[in-house]
Amino acid sequence: MLVAKLRWNFLNLYPYIDMVMRGYDTHKPMADLIGVMQQGGAMSVIPNLLWKSEDGQVQNNDFSYTPETFSCGIDWSDHPPKAETETFPINEFLSTQNTGCAYNCGWCGGSREAFRRINKKKRAMIRKPACEIGYEFDTLSKVPRVNEHHFYSVGSYNETKKGMEFFVEKVAESNVKSISYEQFFLTSDDVLQRMAEANKRTFITISPGSHDLRVAKLSGRGVYSNEEMERWIEKALNYGIHQIDMWYVIGMPEQDEKSVMETVDYCQRLLERFKDKRVNPMLCPMIPFLDPTSTFFEYPEKHGYRIFYRTVEEHRRGMMRTSLINRINYETKWLSRNDLVHVGFRAVRELMLRKAASGFLPSFIVEDFVTKINDDLSFVDVVHEADCIADERARIQALEELGDEILNRNNRIFSSGVMSQAFPVNRQIGGRWFDEIGWESDLLETVQDS
Ligand code: SF4
Repeated sequence: MLVAKLRWNFLNLYPYIDMVMRGYDTHKPMADLIGVMQQGGAMSVIPNLLWKSEDGQVQNNDFSYTPETFSCGIDWSDHPPKAETETFPINEFLSTQNTGCAYNCGWCGGSREAFRRINKKKRAMIRKPACEIGYEFDTLSKVPRVNEHHFYSVGSYNETKKGMEFFVEKVAESNVKSISYEQFFLTSDDVLQRMAEANKRTFITISPGSHDLRVAKLSGRGVYSNEEMERWIEKALNYGIHQIDMWYVIGMPEQDEKSVMETVDYCQRLLERFKDKRVNPMLCPMIPFLDPTSTFFEYPEKHGYRIFYRTVEEHRRGMMRTSLINRINYETKWLSRNDLVHVGFRAVRELMLRKAASGFLPSFIVEDFVTKINDDLSFVDVVHEADCIADERARIQALEELGDEILNRNNRIFSSGVMSQAFPVNRQIGGRWFDEIGWESDLLETVQDS
C-alpha cells in the first residue's frame, strides 16, 4: 500500500481506520503485523506501520522497511481449481516480479523517481530473486488443469537480460495455456524467439503512449519510432508471438484532442497493415486519478498539469462526487477534466468502430459496446450538471431525481460480468479482476452479498 507521501494525519479523521501499512513492498511487515495480532506483541516494532494506540493517538513507526529485493515467491499450489462448467471466465495467474522501475513515466507512482522519492534511497527498483521465481513456478506445476490458465507477468520490462532468459526458461517448463509479458523497449530478436518457443500463445504488451513521439517522450516513453515498432511487430509475429497488445494513453503533456484523434488514425493504420493478425491497439484515458507521488502529481505546473485533490481526505471527497468529471484529480493544459471524459470516450468509441470496419472485431460486439458509450456520453453531462449545483439542498434533490437512472447504469457495471476494450465480450467474474481469478462467480456473489 503506497501512502507514504500522502499526509498521514488523515488517520485522525477516520475512526474506522485503525492502521495503515506504507511502502512498495509490504509483504514482510504485513506478515509481522499478522503475527503480532494473532500471538500478541508490540505494534511499535513493526516497520512502516501507522497505527492507533489505545488512547486513540496515531503512532508513526519508522518507515524503515525498504528492502533490497522484492517480496517472495507465491505458493500457487492451493489455487482454487477451475470449475468444469465455466464457459468464458478469466482464469489467470498474475505475478509481479519487481517494484519500482528502471523507467520514469511522469504519470506513474511506481516510476524510478517516485520510488526514490518515497524510499529516500538511490535504488530505483527491486526485483524478486531468481530462487523465489523458481519456487513460484514449481508450485504452479501442482495446480490442477494449469494448462487452462493464463499467466500474466507484471513488469517483465524490468528484467535484466539474464533474468528474462531465466524467466522464459521457467515458462517453457511450465504448462500454462498462455502468457503475457509487458515490455518497455522493443524486445530483442533472440528473446522474442525464446518467448515464442516457450509458449505457443505468447502475448506481448507494449505501451507506445502516443503515435506522436514528441508527446510520448514528454511522458517518459517514446523510445522507438512508429516505423521501428511496425517492423518489430512484423518480426515478432513471424517468430510466432501469438498477439501484440498496445496501449495508447490519454492525459499526457501537450496532448490535445487533435493529437488523441490522430492516435486513433494511427491505430487504424496498424489495424489495416496487420489485418487478420493479432495486433490490438487500445486507448486508455487516464481517469479518475493521476498517481499521487508521480512526477506530474508532485510537480504539476512544470508539466502543464493542475491537481484538484492532494490529500487522502480530498481524494475521498472526490470519490464521493456523483459526476465522473468531478471525481478526476487532475487536468492538463491541453485536456480539461471534461475533455478527459468526453474526448476519452469518443476516442475509444471511434477506435472500436474502426476495429469493426477493419474486421478486427465483429460488428455486433462493437455495436453493443458503442451503444453503451453513447449512453454514457450523454448521461455523464446530465449527472455533471446536477452535481455542480452550488446549493447543497438543490444539488441533493437534483441527484436524487436521477437516482433510478444512475442505479440502472451502476447495475450494468457492478454485475457478475465484465466487458472491456481489451476483451469486449461479457465474461463471468465476481466483480473485480483481481478477485476473480479462479473463483466461482456464485461463491463471489455470496461473499459480496454478505
Ligand atoms: S508506467 Fe513507466 S515508470 Fe511506471 S512502471 Fe510502467 S514503465 Fe515503469
